[in-house]
Amino acid sequence: MADQKHDGPPATTETIASDDRLRDVVIVGAGLAGASAAFHLTQAGADVLVLEKDEPSSGASGIGYGMVNPMMARKARPVWEVRNALHVLDLMGPPLQTSKGLWRPAGSVDQATLFQKAAEEHPDVGRWHGPETTERALPWLPAPWGALEVIEGRSLHIPSVVTHWTRGIELQSNRAIASWDEHDGIVTARCQNGQLFRTRKLLLCMGTALTTHPETSDLNLHVIKGQVARFKKPSGLPTILPPVSGHGYLVDAGDGSCWVGSTFEHTWTEEGPTAAGTEELRSKAANLASGFEQAELLDMKVGFRVTVPGSRKPMLGPISKKGNVWVFSGLGAKGLLFSAYLGSQIPTLFNKPEAIPEAFRVVRRSANP
Ligand SMILES: Cc1cc2nc3c(=O)[nH]c(=O)nc-3n(C[C@H](O)[C@H](O)[C@H](O)COP(=O)(O)OP(=O)(O)OC[C@H]3O[C@@H](n4cnc5c(N)ncnc54)[C@H](O)[C@@H]3O)c2cc1C
Repeated sequence: MADQKHDGPPATTETIASDDRLRDVVIVGAGLAGASAAFHLTQAGADVLVLEKDEPSSGASGIGYGMVNPMMARKARPVWEVRNALHVLDLMGPPLQTSKGLWRPAGSVDQATLFQKAAEEHPDVGRWHGPETTERALPWLPAPWGALEVIEGRSLHIPSVVTHWTRGIELQSNRAIASWDEHDGIVTARCQNGQLFRTRKLLLCMGTALTTHPETSDLNLHVIKGQVARFKKPSGLPTILPPVSGHGYLVDAGDGSCWVGSTFEHTWTEEGPTAAGTEELRSKAANLASGFEQAELLDMKVGFRVTVPGSRKPMLGPISKKGNVWVFSGLGAKGLLFSAYLGSQIPTLFNKPEAIPEAFRVVRRSANP
């Protein structure tokens, strides 16, 4: 594919000339959801345009490194459709920062039993290592009860994934979509600068902006603040650490520093990073690799994940009466796996919305008083 096109002129020389070309799909938002949808729709032969309010990965996808962890949560049960999701992710080919493999130290005897069981039941995704074996292989990993090696786990730099998935696809930055109308099977999207775009389908992948836009604010979506911090890697650790996931996660950035995530804040008073958040992350880091108790803080960031309360599955489907305005959001903490897999289903589901699995359907809060 050719290089990514960023056709949007800088905001200072903004024009309001409308774009008369009728697109098959206009995607609003260039984060993981929009990028994956753009990738798969283009592969399926659709004429796709991505419009982004700022620059690609300006929302949650700008958080930096993310984990692909096929065996999440306390019991390490495989994530929904994980084998298909991993297969799609491999086909989409985001560049791997390190080789595959992620470690989950057990937090207690009970969790060790659960991890061992998960590894026995799913030997293709997980392998159990007792305390002695773990200590021999990874002496820096605090794992007194042993650890689960998640074979297909990995970490990825999310903004690089977004760039990779949208390479060669028409993408205009500095285009904030403000409203849309639907007539005779054509949707007209209006930019804040007055520019109009015509399309057969409009796919809204606007992340947190969905929770405030008047047309979408009653979708059953919830925002969670997450803080991450970058610490200088303590001396004595290997040149590159594999990703580790426990109460939080640790990713080696490959430049002598590690990113540690994440806090989960359902309510907050400060939009930016906080000192309390950083201390929480330092203590998480110390439980994931030795030596982080005193590590030098280098950087902090926050991001806002959108989740679907209850199902914790993404939301995908039409939101307009005529069925040509769709939403794709709610990727939560599994943005990489969910965006890859559900994005791959969009070309089929656009023509067959009744096939959208119940768990992913659009739910409006007003429908459930
Ligand atoms: C702290 C933290 C840690 C995380 N860790 C992981 C992890 O380890 N593994 C993992 O898989 N996932 C992780 N995630 C989740 C993942 O980052 C998200 O699920 C994913 O990035 C969401 O992608 P999105 O495209 O839905 O939304 P976003 O990335 O928020 O993208 C929305 C885009 O829409 C644009 N936009 C908004 N309004 C408009 C408009 N009106 N017109 C045009 N464009 C608009 C925004 O500028 C933005 O670029 C983490 C998230 C956070 C916050």
